[in-house]
Amino acid sequence: ESATDALLSLKHISVEFDGFKAVNDVTTSIAPHEIHFFIGPNGAGKTTLLDVICGKTKPSAGEVDYADIGNILKLKEFEIVKKGICRKFQVPSTFVNLSVYDNMRIALNHDKSVFGSLFMRKRYLDTRKIYEVLNLVGLDKKSKERAKSLSHGEKQWLEIAMLLVEEPKLLLLDEPVAGMGQAETEKTARILEEIKDRCAVAVVEHDMNFVKSIADDVTVMHEGAILTEGTANEVMQNKKVQEVYLGR
Ligand code: ADP
Repeated sequence: ESATDALLSLKHISVEFDGFKAVNDVTTSIAPHEIHFFIGPNGAGKTTLLDVICGKTKPSAGEVDYADIGNILKLKEFEIVKKGICRKFQVPSTFVNLSVYDNMRIALNHDKSVFGSLFMRKRYLDTRKIYEVLNLVGLDKKSKERAKSLSHGEKQWLEIAMLLVEEPKLLLLDEPVAGMGQAETEKTARILEEIKDRCAVAVVEHDMNFVKSIADDVTVMHEGAILTEGTANEVMQNKKVQEVYLGR
């Protein structure tokens, strides 16, 4: 895609930790409504790159241009969230003793006063929105169950739903199918395919079958730099990628 079509553009991003370059001059972009994977061996710099996008880590060089805002590097993490870039971490962030529905309500109203969320009209609209998103992730019939009673996969989908009610433009996911069996992995793939009608999704992932099943674009990283980019098939046929993965 051309630079002007991009939702997010990373331009010459470098990240240094005590002189060690974890990310080295990375330039790439994420288009609206695409599922964009970042793959590569451990230590390649994938997670650090997501940290840069969500504002958790500030790079030593480069620029992050987003939507019609321009460079977002000066923004704080919470300001970037408000602009529509939402990150799901691997650490659980649900309230385990609350119901699925109440977790959603908290996610939807986390930045509003308790007073504001008491208005009836607002609550009615909230309920519709919450059920619409729960339906998307297949949890609408479990809205009254406590979060802790959900399966591992359902917990992950609830966390995704809690981000979706905020109507992000870009969703960042860190190994979303880690710990899932095949059925849950396949369901996650279907969910992400539906989500991309609403927003772009950037995913750090190790499970290559999962990547192949839904990727629009794949960026392969190695030692902080981009090795190659393209469709899943294109990158898997790349000789350098095969060398890195097979260790030859
Ligand atoms: P990946 O997600 O591809 O496995 P990371 O982005 O987590 O890779 O890490 C890239 C490199 O940067 C690794 O060598 C890692 O040890 C190093 N690194 C990551 N975060 C820090 C940090 N906060 N301080 C020092 N080194 C770090």
